[in-house]
Amino acid sequence: MEKLKSQGRCLYCGQLYNKRSIGKHLDGHLAQEAAKAGSPKGLSFHIRVEAAEMFLELLVDATTPLDSIDGFLRQIWLECCGHMSAFQFKGNYDEDGIPMSRKIGKVFGTGMVLNYEYDFGSTTELAIKVGKSFPMAVPDGIVLLSRNEPLRIMCDKCTTQPATQICTVHIYEEEGFLCEDCAETHEEECEDFADYAAMPVVNSPRMGVCGYMGGSTDIERDGVFVETSN
Ligand SMILES: [Zn+2]
Ligand SMILES: [Zn+2]
Ligand SMILES: [Zn+2]
Ligand SMILES: [Zn+2]
Repeated sequence: MEKLKSQGRCLYCGQLYNKRSIGKHLDGHLAQEAAKAGSPKGLSFHIRVEAAEMFLELLVDATTPLDSIDGFLRQIWLECCGHMSAFQFKGNYDEDGIPMSRKIGKVFGTGMVLNYEYDFGSTTELAIKVGKSFPMAVPDGIVLLSRNEPLRIMCDKCTTQPATQICTVHIYEEEGFLCEDCAETHEEECEDFADYAAMPVVNSPRMGVCGYMGGSTDIERDGVFVETSN
C-alpha cells in the first residue's frame, strides 16, 4: 500500500493543509482570534488528538472537564457499544486513569502528551498532544478546528477503486479492504463476510473494530475517500 497522506481543512480559511503543518497554521488564526476586540476573555488550549495518520485539532476551554472531551471523542470517532475509557498521563499507567470530572485547566500543560484508551478489550488508543494556550474562552467548551479528510484507502483486490467495506477476517492477510464491486465478489467466496465480518470504511481509527459503524457528529467528513480531479 502506498503511504497514506493525511490532510485537514482549516476551520477559519477553508484551505487544506497537511498533517504536519496544520497545527502551526491554526495557531496563527487562534492568536488573531484571541487578539480580536470582541473575543471572550478566558483560557483555552489547542490540542491534537492523534492515531497514526488520523487527527483531530481541537480548541478546548480550560473549564471543560475530561468527561466532555471523552464524550466528543466518542461521538466523532469511537462509540460502538458504550465501552469504558480512560485518560492517562504518558508513562504513568494508573488503573483508573485521571478522574473524568477534572477540568482540563487543572490537567493540561503545553507540551504534555496524554494517552487515551477507549474499550479495554479491543482497545483504540489515542495520543492527546497539548499545544499552545490562548487567552480566550470557548463558550461551547470544544471547537473542532480541523480533522483529517478521509484517507485514500484503495481496494486491496483491484487496487483501482476506493475501498468502501472491510472484511474483518481477511484484513489480517492484507486483503480486507474492498471496493463495492470486489465486495460483491467477496461475498460469494467468504462465508464470514456474508455472515458477520462486513464493516464499513469510515474516517476513524476505530474502523473495523467491534461494532463500530461510524460517527454521529461531523458525518459529512466521515465515510470513504472520494477521488477528485485535481
Ligand atoms: Zn486557515
Ligand atoms: Zn463495541
Ligand atoms: Zn476492488
Ligand atoms: Zn473475507
